[in-house]
Amino acid sequence: MRPDSETASYVVGLIGADIGPSFSPSLHEREATELGLRYVYERIDIKELGVAPEGVGELLRRAQRTGFRGVNVTHPCKQTVVEHLSDLSSDAATLGAVNTVVFEDGNAVGHNTDWPGFQQSFARGLPDVATSRVVLLGAGGAGAAVAHAALSLGIERLSVVDTDLNRADVLARSLRRRYGDDRAVVPARLSAELPRADGLINATPTGMATHPGAPLPLELLHDRLWVADVVYRPLETELLRHARHLGCRTLDGGGMAVFQAALSFELFTGRKPDRERMLRHFALLAEDAPSPVAR
Ligand code: NAD
Repeated sequence: MRPDSETASYVVGLIGADIGPSFSPSLHEREATELGLRYVYERIDIKELGVAPEGVGELLRRAQRTGFRGVNVTHPCKQTVVEHLSDLSSDAATLGAVNTVVFEDGNAVGHNTDWPGFQQSFARGLPDVATSRVVLLGAGGAGAAVAHAALSLGIERLSVVDTDLNRADVLARSLRRRYGDDRAVVPARLSAELPRADGLINATPTGMATHPGAPLPLELLHDRLWVADVVYRPLETELLRHARHLGCRTLDGGGMAVFQAALSFELFTGRKPDRERMLRHFALLAEDAPSPVAR
């Protein structure tokens, strides 16, 4: 049962690998304090515990048994967690990936807030950009969430590019089934696709402190593009720095990170967090972060 008093206590957690530097505990706990809630957010690091990604089910059951309200789930457990859940939201079922589990009346229900997180960030940060043709780099977990968000926001045609061609194909096929045959393609060559594109979205890990560099040859960028990145550690990736230098409109990964957290918080507590306050808090955390390595 969801605690219904404003002073109710919530224990939630994050299950994933290398999550020591994650901003999530601080983001959630500070917002809860602002709202007058007692709220503890624990890290459950499978690497530190020596648990394989497939062991996520046991960690989930333990959290449920010990009174957790729910957990966030991150790399590399977003897919492996699915088989351990009683039910899935329709977004999570479409993506086959879960980043939020809520324990409700003995059930464990999976949600995906990455998708609406990107949607809200895009609508806020790039509300009036051209959306006829957009290139997406990366067809992994984040890429799938971003692709569904982009097409449901009205981007007309998405070109899906991944160094693993099979991943790009699988995602494009699933997008065509859901949104229509002309909405998603796998282009033959990125260099031929980008000159006619309005926008570029990076959903690869390249640009993170642990994966430095740019996910494509930067000379392919041009000043008619808008450029969005899902990487947020650091907020200014090499890709965004170059795009800004060219005069492109840009969107960093911070908004998606904050909005997915805000949506999870709402699922855990039933309370609406103040998103602008969370964005300000996130900016402070990003400024203070020593060596950014994980979500
Ligand atoms: P993943 O490993 O599941 O997928 C990454 C995909 O990118 C893979 O398919 C890989 O083949 C492809 N790829 C790698 N380099 C490429 C390149 N140069 N060109 C084309 N394709 C390339 O990873 P993921 O879980 O999807 O995460 C990707 C990034 O998204 C991570 O940096 C993660 O931190 C970030 N992320 C951010 C948020 C947020 O809230 N801002 C949410 C989720 C994930």
